Amino acid sequence: MNLEKKVADSLIAYLEDLKSFNVNFIALKNEINSNKIQLSKKETKDIKGLDMKTPSLPFDPDEKMELEELSNAIENCMRCKLGGKRNHLVFGSGSKNAKLVIIGEAPGAEEDKQGIPFVGRAGQMLTKMIENVIEVPRQEVFICNILKCRPPENRNPEEDEISCCEPYLKKQLEIINPKLILTLGKFASQWLLQSDTPISKLRGRFSSYHGIPCLPTFHPAYLLRNPKQKKFVHEDLLKVKEVYHSNVVPKIELNL
Ligand code: SF4
Repeated sequence: MNLEKKVADSLIAYLEDLKSFNVNFIALKNEINSNKIQLSKKETKDIKGLDMKTPSLPFDPDEKMELEELSNAIENCMRCKLGGKRNHLVFGSGSKNAKLVIIGEAPGAEEDKQGIPFVGRAGQMLTKMIENVIEVPRQEVFICNILKCRPPENRNPEEDEISCCEPYLKKQLEIINPKLILTLGKFASQWLLQSDTPISKLRGRFSSYHGIPCLPTFHPAYLLRNPKQKKFVHEDLLKVKEVYHSNVVPKIELNL
């Protein structure tokens, strides 16, 4: 194999890697400057012909499955660029028969280290919210995030990452089919309700996700920075508590 062919093969392998991280555009020059390597017509065609679509789902979304089967199916997911950077995929934790599903944004550093959602400072606050205000043991609810892998430096989730990862959350909700959903913060609330309305206007009012009552509130990480907002979250959690422990069907206050 001559040098040019070797370089072209390495380049194709590199592009395949990029493709698995959902990179779908790369500027291509005919000549790679300093080494003066010219790709042949066939090699250029091979590269241009690469299918740059998002990798397919690792399960059939129409198939009935258990939560554990879903977890096993996605454990090696590389559908978006976050997959190559994680230590652990954070699927979610809690009861598969949970009456309440709590949805946050994405794992942070501690969650990425342990593979468990909400175990850092914000997680400790969430545990207190669940156990002291809603008055339910944490292990009885199911806690997860929109994104299952940590964005670098805890930056906001990007649109392509959410669209790659959301089928997993949809399937989790379909399997668990909870009595109600609590969303934490802007990203989870806006995604679930398919709305651009700011979280300050969404919070504290019941909406519906496929017929399941859903209450948005502020994210515990936001409360750590803005403790004065805790009183609003406390009010929201009391609404969750009332529905959780009774047969009350909440009135849908936001029809988005
Ligand atoms: S964030 Fe979601 S879609 Fe992206 S690699 Fe992780 S599990 Fe896969």
